[in-house]
Amino acid sequence: MSSDTPATGRLLIFTAPSGAGKTTIVHHLLDRFPQLAFSVSATTRPPRPGEVNGEDYYFLSQQEFDQAIANDHFAEWEEVYPGRRYGTLKSEIERLWQLDKIIIFDIEVKGATNLKKAFPENSLAVFVQPPSPDILFERLRKRATEDKESLRVRIARAALELTYAESFDHIMVNDDLETTLQDAEEIVAGILDNE
Ligand code: ADP
Ligand code: 5GP
Repeated sequence: MSSDTPATGRLLIFTAPSGAGKTTIVHHLLDRFPQLAFSVSATTRPPRPGEVNGEDYYFLSQQEFDQAIANDHFAEWEEVYPGRRYGTLKSEIERLWQLDKIIIFDIEVKGATNLKKAFPENSLAVFVQPPSPDILFERLRKRATEDKESLRVRIARAALELTYAESFDHIMVNDDLETTLQDAEEIVAGILDNE
C-alpha cells in the first residue's frame, strides 16, 4: 500500500510485537513533547474498556473499513489478526501536519515498513524489542486485555514480528522502563534539533 499524500512533515514510527511496550513509550512521549501528535488509526476490532472513539482509534464496522479501502482513504492498512484490520488514514496524516505536528505512530511491523516506503525522507522508525520472547509473553498476559484466543494469536504473530527488527532505523530494547523512556526522549530531542 502506498500513499499519494504529499510529504510536508515528519513521522516518528514506533513498531514492535504486541506487548513490547510501544503504547507505554508513545504515551510518555506525548505527555512530554507538545510538538508530537498521535496518529489515531482506524480499526475493526471492538474497543477495550476505557478506549475512546477518535482518541485511541476510529472504531469502524467491517463495511465502513471496506468502504474506506475502496475510496483509497488509507496510507496503509493490514489485517493484523484474522478479521481485525487496522489502518492509517491519509486524512489523519494531513490533519496533523496541518497543525504542524510531528506525527507519532504505534503500528505493527508491516504497516511501519509500508509507511517508511511511502514517506522515505520524512520517517524515523524505531523497533521496540522485548528483552526476550518469554518476557514479552509474560507482559502480554499480565496486561490482561486479551481473552485466551486473542492472546494465542498475538503470541503466534509475535515470533514473526521479532524477525523484522533489523529493517528499522533504531532498535530499542525495552528492559528497564526508565532507561527506555529516556532513550526515547533522546530520539525525539534529536528530531527537534534538526527541525
Ligand atoms: P504494546 O503497545 O507494544 O502492545 P504496552 O505498552 O501495552 O505494549 O506494554 C505491554 C505491557 O507491558 C503493559 O502492561 C505495560 O505496562 C508493560 N510494560 C511496558 N514496558 C515495560 C517494562 N520495561 N518493564 C515491565 N513492564 C513493561
Ligand atoms: P491493539 O489491538 O493491541 O490496539 O493493536 C494491535 C496491533 O495493531 C498493534 O501492533 C498495533 O501497533 C497495530 N496497529 C495499530 N494501528 C495500526 C495501523 O494503523 N496500521 C497497522 N498496520 N497496524 C496498526
